[in-house]
Amino acid sequence: MNRRNATESEHVILQKLPCRLDSSFGGRTLRTSLTLCLLLLVLSSAVVTPVGAVSQSEAQPSSDGEWKHHQSIVIFRNDDIQPYYRQPEMRAVDQVFVDEGVPVTQGVIPTTADGAILSEGQLCQYIRTQSTTHPDTFEYVLHGYTHNATTTFYGGSEFGDVAYATQYQQISDGTDILESCTGERSTTFIPPFDTYDNNTVRALTRQNYTAISGGGWFTIQYYNESEPFETGGMLHVPNSHSFVKDWSADELYTEEELEEAFDATHQNNGVYVQMLHYPTFTDESRLQTLRGLIHHMKSREGVRFMTLGEFAERSQQGKLERVDDGWLVWESNTLTETSEPELAEDSPAERPEQEQVTEPLAETSEEAPPKSGFERLYAVVLDFVKQFVG
Ligand SMILES: [Zn+2]
Repeated sequence: MNRRNATESEHVILQKLPCRLDSSFGGRTLRTSLTLCLLLLVLSSAVVTPVGAVSQSEAQPSSDGEWKHHQSIVIFRNDDIQPYYRQPEMRAVDQVFVDEGVPVTQGVIPTTADGAILSEGQLCQYIRTQSTTHPDTFEYVLHGYTHNATTTFYGGSEFGDVAYATQYQQISDGTDILESCTGERSTTFIPPFDTYDNNTVRALTRQNYTAISGGGWFTIQYYNESEPFETGGMLHVPNSHSFVKDWSADELYTEEELEEAFDATHQNNGVYVQMLHYPTFTDESRLQTLRGLIHHMKSREGVRFMTLGEFAERSQQGKLERVDDGWLVWESNTLTETSEPELAEDSPAERPEQEQVTEPLAETSEEAPPKSGFERLYAVVLDFVKQFVG
């Protein structure tokens, strides 16, 4: 706002300048000055107008980024990451996402029968390498504490119907263990068995979690919602589809069945959250089903892949908007930022995280007025005026 005021006062000075100059000159000079005055009015209005008068989306300068329209959003959620169990399968599934350049949220179990996962163990070393090598592909988040069913809540749950204090402690311990493993603090929670209750949400919110991903079949019963929704300060992003059709028969859905399910969500402009469990990818044909599904999604127009964390962060920062025919995603234009150092310091990407969260988008549209262009034009016009009247 301050900058807009400053720009407006520059505008006023600019308009007055030749009028002050002309007081010491005769009739011909007066006409010339009036012409100049008019010319400057036109020029200065053209420069200032876009800062305040253009609508929000149009006002975003290309130097920062732009709103891009997508028809649907796809999130992959790979559960049950743990040490010692089917590690070749885990790495093979990871490799599909690396090869395809598609992001995936990985749910890590912090404590198994062998105890807490060790930060110096093979799994954590592998996770840290993956995070460093492919930062845009892998997001590691907390998946329960022991992953054992402790109640019969909705058919079996680790967290649902458990006392608040116990849930709080287990989330706290699990978060610490995972942080020492990955080097990052998780802000997304995947409850084992896809079930949780209001106390889970309360415990998570108080520990700075922003998103929870259970099962769509569960949230429709417990919250009467299956699409992403918000309650208790938490964004719920339930999975919409499983890869496993029948656990007891070790049967997966076919590629055709998965593609049909995705197409239906895509046509309805929804969020398709595909749950998978890496230990079930026991042969090449199953990996091929995953690859085939991803290729199918890529063949459709307007699909935006993102992690659960990106979905939650963008929603909170006003960088993701649901519209009638899909989604608007604010995409930063980092290339232009580096080629325009004067503007780069004003771009949202360069400002501290805290500021981005609290600042609504309408404000950021005013953060990058064509200030340097204005100043350059101002200097040129001043030089021109001085030359003419001198
Ligand atoms: Zn699980």
